[in-house]
Amino acid sequence: MNDDCIFCKIAIGEIPTDFLYENERLMVFRDINPHAPVHLLIVPKKHIRSVNDLTEADHEILSELIMVAKEMAKAESVSESGYRLFFNVERGGGQVIFHLHLHLIGGWKK
Ligand code: 5GP
Ligand code: ZN
Repeated sequence: MNDDCIFCKIAIGEIPTDFLYENERLMVFRDINPHAPVHLLIVPKKHIRSVNDLTEADHEILSELIMVAKEMAKAESVSESGYRLFFNVERGGGQVIFHLHLHLIGGWKK
């Protein structure tokens, strides 16, 4: 938990947010400023600043983020049409929230 971190505040319910999916380790919610018809964020509850800060101990959560993203794509009906999964890393990579999150975007018109 990082006191100044928006996603940590979402994780503990301090900023009310609708979760599309949640378990003890991660949460999924819609991006507040979507860049596509479907734009979800898959976010570990543990505060990890960015991909640069991942350690050996994070193997499991990292693979779980991707496995959950796959299921969320199915639930949002974008599996077949296709989607993008990405991490922005640090300022030069477009990261503005410094708490690790995987973007899932899709749902563009064919
Ligand atoms: P980044 O650029 O750091 O990879 O992406 C951060 C994303 O978080 C942005 O797309 C932004 O719209 C989203 N975001 C920022 N604050 C909030 C918030 O309070 N709630 C939700 N649902 N999304 C947020
Ligand atoms: Zn955080």
